[in-house]
Amino acid sequence: MAVYVIGHKSPDTDSVTAAIAFAELQKMLGVDAEPCCQGELNPETKLVLEKFGFSEPQLMTDVAGKQYMLVDHSDIKQAPDNWDQGELLAVVDHHKIGDITTPNPIFFCAMPVGCTGTVLYKLFVDLYKKEIPANVAGLMMSAILSDTVLFKSATCTPADKEAAEALAKIAGIDDMMAWGMEMAKAKSAVEGVSPRDLIFRDYKDFNMSGKNVGIGQLELVSLDLVENMLDDLYAELEKVKAEGRHSVFLMLTDIMKEGTELMAVTDDPGVIEKAFGKKLEGRSVWLPGVMSRKKQMVPPLEKAFAG
Ligand code: MG
Ligand code: MG
Ligand code: MG
Repeated sequence: MAVYVIGHKSPDTDSVTAAIAFAELQKMLGVDAEPCCQGELNPETKLVLEKFGFSEPQLMTDVAGKQYMLVDHSDIKQAPDNWDQGELLAVVDHHKIGDITTPNPIFFCAMPVGCTGTVLYKLFVDLYKKEIPANVAGLMMSAILSDTVLFKSATCTPADKEAAEALAKIAGIDDMMAWGMEMAKAKSAVEGVSPRDLIFRDYKDFNMSGKNVGIGQLELVSLDLVENMLDDLYAELEKVKAEGRHSVFLMLTDIMKEGTELMAVTDDPGVIEKAFGKKLEGRSVWLPGVMSRKKQMVPPLEKAFAG
């Protein structure tokens, strides 16, 4: 029976490449594992798969009656539908522990590092002592560059740099940073994409003290790229909020200036000031140094929502 390895909804490069890499590791361990993704791939992920010779994983959004493993998340809101009607066998992640529970003991490995690719590197090398195929190493290295925003994010740890450097050697990539910039440019592609698709390109729903809160993020080499789209993005955020959410945030992250213009549509604008010590100026606020949703957005917002 196949075991499906699945990353989170609104797949990013890490969630897709981690599904492929963990499935490869599982196959080495004798498991009939198949990588999956839960939605359309972003342009950066497509570029990465192409570069290292992989096709897109199959779509899988419902795991009823299936055996599966999760990578890059353990939150119900980001997991496949009917997660509780399938059998979860493993989780490999680098986020806060989510709200998924299991009736049986499972393999669960989460580390406070910048990328699931880094955790997988340690599983290959330290735990299972398996050789990482060159093309798989290329995927994992790319995921680390993507998730840590070229090692600039607050989430980046020495373990991420070490892993990326070792993986670059295995993959035969001489100039890792040049490849990272190519990826960042691909990630910045917004021309001709609908506001809705941009908001959901890298998007997560959270339950914060009983409130439905959505946070999208666009990582851009320059905010100029979206300057003429701000009205449309805001109007679309209002629609997304009207679909049953208390708040919807869109992080417009400038990876060169290293900060985020945070757009907000919320029933309680006070949470912004509570969380970040700065008031909304109109529909957004500039947060210098903020690049990570996981580490610099979610924790302060959760605190603000808790009271
Ligand atoms: Mg991710
Ligand atoms: Mg990740
Ligand atoms: Mg990310």
